[in-house]
Amino acid sequence: MSYFRPAIDAMTGYVPGEQPKSGLKVIKLNTNENPYPPSPKAIAALQQIDGDALRRYPDPFAYEFCQAVSEVLDVPPNWVIVGNGSDDVLNILIRACAEGRDRKVVYPSPTYVLYRTLSAMQPAEIVEVAYDDDFQLPITDLVAAKGSVTFVASPNSPSGHLVPLDDLRKLASQVSGILAIDEAYVDFAEYSAISLVREFDNVIVLRTLSKGYSLAGLRLGFGIANPQLLSGLFKVKDSYNVDAIAIAMGTAAMRDQEYKNATAEKVKVSRRSLTQELKNIGFKVRESHGNFVLATPPQPNAEELYLKLKDAGILVRYFNQSGLSDKLRITVGTDEQNQILIESLMNS
Ligand SMILES: *Cc1c(COP(=O)(O)O)cnc(C)c1O
Repeated sequence: MSYFRPAIDAMTGYVPGEQPKSGLKVIKLNTNENPYPPSPKAIAALQQIDGDALRRYPDPFAYEFCQAVSEVLDVPPNWVIVGNGSDDVLNILIRACAEGRDRKVVYPSPTYVLYRTLSAMQPAEIVEVAYDDDFQLPITDLVAAKGSVTFVASPNSPSGHLVPLDDLRKLASQVSGILAIDEAYVDFAEYSAISLVREFDNVIVLRTLSKGYSLAGLRLGFGIANPQLLSGLFKVKDSYNVDAIAIAMGTAAMRDQEYKNATAEKVKVSRRSLTQELKNIGFKVRESHGNFVLATPPQPNAEELYLKLKDAGILVRYFNQSGLSDKLRITVGTDEQNQILIESLMNS
């Protein structure tokens, strides 16, 4: 007999992009981290942490951080749930809402693979609705699948496309359960769907400090929805899911919108030049609204190219799955990093 539940034996664990050992000099363009440092104000907040205060448990609701979110996004503080990364909020949502055949998880694919992993763990039945080549939101099929939770990442990874607000609105009005709009990359996009949380009581918008705020190592993310929706999620959340250091640094980072916007602007400028330079050497590149591009190399074997780059000390992301196996997802780095990538591609 197995030590594990059948669902755990049957599932494949999530495989994150590789994190090289510290000390190794690699150009890391595989997990959509921000190439610029976090806000100096967040670093200052870290330096001001009183070690003795860590004797105490942190605030279970991270109210100080919720207050900062409230000011920045113009939502009441009790409309915010904070997580140990937005992955934690995704986990909480699936724990609270999905189960078996009668409470499905539905999403258009390809998208963030963790939706599948968390559902398989629950376990909850998964309905993946394929995007077509233009990445139009398949509203009718998503609605017909009757999810207890429907996920849409916008901007989506790995495609980089941004879902039109009217499509999300239509989906929100028609789905039977919760619509979770994952805005991990919103800081690099032209618009947000945040207004929908006021229009619809079944919508939650998820955000993270990992990408736009350069704080992937801190693990801080949050969801925004009405208090009635959040009340169910709070029952599932670990009491102390966010530590005191993350609350202090995250609050300072959130309050420094000017710095975040300036960094995001730099990334967007580099995204434009990286896209153009990849096209110049024969790649097909989708227009991206995130801090990465999805690129189809001119040579037939993308996996081989991924391995060659890896040998040259450049990590990009290769997904061995249908629709993606001829492509590479490349995080936008600094202009200098992008240049080294382009030169390496020209030589391979
Ligand atoms: C990076 C990413 C996340 C995870 O963010 P964390 O806050 O680091 O857990 C969630 N959703 C998508 C689509 C992402 O790309």
